[in-house]
Amino acid sequence: MSFNSQYLADVFDKVCTRNPNEPEFHQAVEEVLKSLTPVVEKRLDIVKSGVIDRIVEPERQILFRVSWVDDKGEVQVNRGFRIQFNSAIGPYKGGLRLHPSVNASILKFLGFEQIFKNSLTGLPIGGGKGGADFDPKGKSDLEVMRFCQSFMTELAKHIGADTDVPAGDIGTGAREIGYMYGQYKRLRNEYTGVLTGKGLSYGGSLARTEATGYGLCYFSEKMLNDKNSSFKGKTVVVSGSGNVAIHATAKATDLGATVIAVSDSSGYVVDMNGIDAKILNQIKTIERLRISEYAKRVSSAKYTEDCKGIWQQKCDIALPCATQNEIDQESAEILVRNGVLAVAEGANMPSTPEAIAVFLKNGVLFGPGKAANAGGVATSALEMSQNSARLSWTFEEVDTKLKNIMVNIYQSAAKAAQDYGAEGNLVVGANIAGFLKVAEAMMAHGISY
Ligand code: NDP
Repeated sequence: MSFNSQYLADVFDKVCTRNPNEPEFHQAVEEVLKSLTPVVEKRLDIVKSGVIDRIVEPERQILFRVSWVDDKGEVQVNRGFRIQFNSAIGPYKGGLRLHPSVNASILKFLGFEQIFKNSLTGLPIGGGKGGADFDPKGKSDLEVMRFCQSFMTELAKHIGADTDVPAGDIGTGAREIGYMYGQYKRLRNEYTGVLTGKGLSYGGSLARTEATGYGLCYFSEKMLNDKNSSFKGKTVVVSGSGNVAIHATAKATDLGATVIAVSDSSGYVVDMNGIDAKILNQIKTIERLRISEYAKRVSSAKYTEDCKGIWQQKCDIALPCATQNEIDQESAEILVRNGVLAVAEGANMPSTPEAIAVFLKNGVLFGPGKAANAGGVATSALEMSQNSARLSWTFEEVDTKLKNIMVNIYQSAAKAAQDYGAEGNLVVGANIAGFLKVAEAMMAHGISY
């Protein structure tokens, strides 16, 4: 797809020149800008107030050294980041990724997407993202603790319950959030909801752990229902085996589907009898082992090395829940040839632009990540509300709110697509619906940033 608006093409060129060597960031901006063509045609006020020129530039980027001492007594140095992208509709909100691949490009793509995702939830949260090029894999608990404490020692200066509220992401689970929260509390001497994804004993919300995976399935079920279909009786392939994948597996199974494959970055397992989410959780979250272990414990499961091979598995529904750009054009073509009905993104930007084009061209129902995986951040915002009110809602209360939010997100994206001449295209719909609310707020605030 090329740019149909010279103005948007110029904004994109400037982004590429100003942010060289940041391909993931360029990819995320290009997708949103291309979706905004019908908006710039209809809304000259938005163009004139420079909202689009401003929204592609983070309000603030923080880059810092994280030094810590490993178990051998040796000094290690990592690089920490926080991208405070946009606070037009609420405090910055977005996860912290701990993975060796973390760099400015990846965090800017994630922070940029987060602006629109958070807006789509209908809750008052701005967009941000952060993390470090630290790999928790293979580290002892004490090493992870020392890293998290050092990381938070700097980050604490820049966040706060009404300023910026980080959460988990790849590599940042309950253990890491606990260490970071403990350090924040020590440094600031205050007990506020400055992080979400907290443990239940110290301010966490019931259903937050499950929220992204469950929300993905609620969104997908609504998308399928609109075409007189559902999860019931379908085969599902879920990539990844982390937080999002485990709970997507559990909810898809609850909704009557059979999840036949899951993966990690080494390989994938197939079990036509259905993957058991409890065993998966035990192996990956509690014991922190590789996915190959699943096939050792469950005799009907078969392990294959090479994680990309998972897309060759014939299925009705594909839920990519691992990482960015994990489905390329070739994998998308294989999925289509194998008769996939729907693809919904649990991960952020897991499909390349070429893969998305293949899905849309072939009439596959496609739920983009910024809509389909917004249940995690939505429930994080519910955790913030509970913390402010010093209350705890029941699992059922939070889950019901989550379900309503996911249905509303689907409906707003579908309606925006229809209103702007792209009926059925949820990529365009989600980008426009998410953008418009932020744009109105930015115009109301005047031009400063
Ligand atoms: P986790 O760290 O819990 O899990 C990530 C999983 O993906 C691991 O199983 C990892 O395997 C696997 N993985 C990583 N790279 C690949 C690859 N190339 N191929 C196959 N598997 C791979 O992260 P989350 O589940 O929290 O996050 C997953 C995705 O969902 C990310 O894109 C994240 O940004 C997004 N997301 C997460 C939210 C949340 O609430 N947690 C909210 C919204 C989006 P291994 O064990 O080998 O590393």
